[in-house]
Amino acid sequence: MNLIEHFINGKTFSGKSKKRGKIFNPATGEQNSEVVLAASEDVIEAVNAAKKAFVKWSETPPLQRARIMFKYKELIEKNQDELAKIIVSEHGKVYEDAKGSLIRGLEVVEYACGIPQMLKGEFTENVGTNVDSWSLRQPLGVCAGITPFNFPAMVPMWMFPMAIACGNTFVLKPSEKDPSCSMRLAELMTEAGLPNGVLNVINGDKEAVDALINHKDVMAMSFVGSTPIAKYIYENCAKNEKRVQALGGAKNHCVVMPDCDLDQAVNGLMGAAYGSAGERCMAQSVAVAVGNIGDRLVKNLTKKVEALKVGPGMDKKSEMGPLVTKEHLEKVKNYVEIGEKEGAKLVVDGRNLKLQGYEKGFYLGGCLFDEVKPDMRIYKEEIFGPVLSVVRVKNFDDALKLVNDHEFGNGVSIFTRDGDSGRTFSTKAKIGMVGINIPIPVPMAFHSFGGWKRSLFGDQHMHGPEGVRFYTKLKTITSRWPSGLRSDPEFIMPTMK
Ligand code: NAD
Repeated sequence: MNLIEHFINGKTFSGKSKKRGKIFNPATGEQNSEVVLAASEDVIEAVNAAKKAFVKWSETPPLQRARIMFKYKELIEKNQDELAKIIVSEHGKVYEDAKGSLIRGLEVVEYACGIPQMLKGEFTENVGTNVDSWSLRQPLGVCAGITPFNFPAMVPMWMFPMAIACGNTFVLKPSEKDPSCSMRLAELMTEAGLPNGVLNVINGDKEAVDALINHKDVMAMSFVGSTPIAKYIYENCAKNEKRVQALGGAKNHCVVMPDCDLDQAVNGLMGAAYGSAGERCMAQSVAVAVGNIGDRLVKNLTKKVEALKVGPGMDKKSEMGPLVTKEHLEKVKNYVEIGEKEGAKLVVDGRNLKLQGYEKGFYLGGCLFDEVKPDMRIYKEEIFGPVLSVVRVKNFDDALKLVNDHEFGNGVSIFTRDGDSGRTFSTKAKIGMVGINIPIPVPMAFHSFGGWKRSLFGDQHMHGPEGVRFYTKLKTITSRWPSGLRSDPEFIMPTMK
């Protein structure tokens, strides 16, 4: 059985823990590997390695750090097929989608290549006579990242390339459901010339996470995962005086206006609701049908959901792969049952899907609910599977209110041909990322990613300019080189002269 260990100080590290987790291939339902789940003392090894490496790495000129990022970019491109296949084998999503998510991570590496420009700082000459002032951003020290199962490459790559380019060292704790991609990403960083100890991967569960939260040398924590854990991370890191950004769950709405291009909206919804089997934090799980468009929307969606090609991620014909684990599959099926009991109308039921030759795989066909009401659990809670709920509302104002009243605020979209609706919606939606005729409005690497409300605890979003701010602290220096030495002390501010 393949054993996945840790990656510390540039090499594989076994650690002391005897705890193991199981890794499955979701397409076949067979166990692929075992992963070592770290004990606290293993985490301490990783943090110590990162702390030691920080001394030199933080003094390495940004241009030299950038050169390693350029090399890393080449290596990711060269190894993209292998990395995508690792993602498919442990997460289950279809190959092209796995590759696409890797490229979104690669874009952050490309952005990080420009770090010398981003760390230039600001300078003001003569804030007072012969007094100059400048601001610069310095790295924090050891930073940690804890990531979810649904994007085994992209989400870690939102974090460590930015942290490292800024001069920090990093300890990554990936999801114990699909850790292999993180291990390979770290090996490739070493191959790109990153000094040992700058990037470390520790595999584990709650014990490893708690050890990171409680370690005094971890200066900042980036987290992406479900809302209850995000809140736990935020509160406990703050208690331990760490900087923290904790991104949580979502329930993303797609508002379908009566004047929209319906084909465009339906196609957008199909990809956004069922792509990656709905296991995306930016998946659209609620279609808000405004005015009289409801019947046509449901009719067009039904045809497409029934025709969805579900199959193994490596099969080129598959549009949607399996769910990540058997437990997750059961949880999503349970939500479908809850929805029926709550009185929503199950228009397409994907639970009876059978795939010949893959009977043990974690598959669920696309599910579509109509007449979902805001007080139902299937509306309020994140399902994180291929289940789309249609909620019907009378008008634009009701749609906006529905979106704004939801506890989550990650992403939202509106499909309309009317500029006024689009503009007013984007201004008034209490949501972090808004799409106008764009189903999944994920910002590019040079902007920043993050939600509002209970989808993000903390102030700074991921990557882009906010990523640089998160992984650096500001220092402002004021200096004077007097034209002649003065003999007497001064008791007024130099800027007053
Ligand atoms: P999860 O919260 O179960 O796990 C995330 C990480 O936290 C994992 O590394 C896991 O080991 C760790 N963890 C789990 N339970 C813990 C506990 N009790 N104490 C400490 N650490 C713990 O999330 P998941 O199931 O891996 O991922 C799916 C979730 O992630 C969904 O809610 C999804 O919306 C969210 N997500 C959000 C974003 C975003 O940008 N907002 C992006 C991707 C995924």
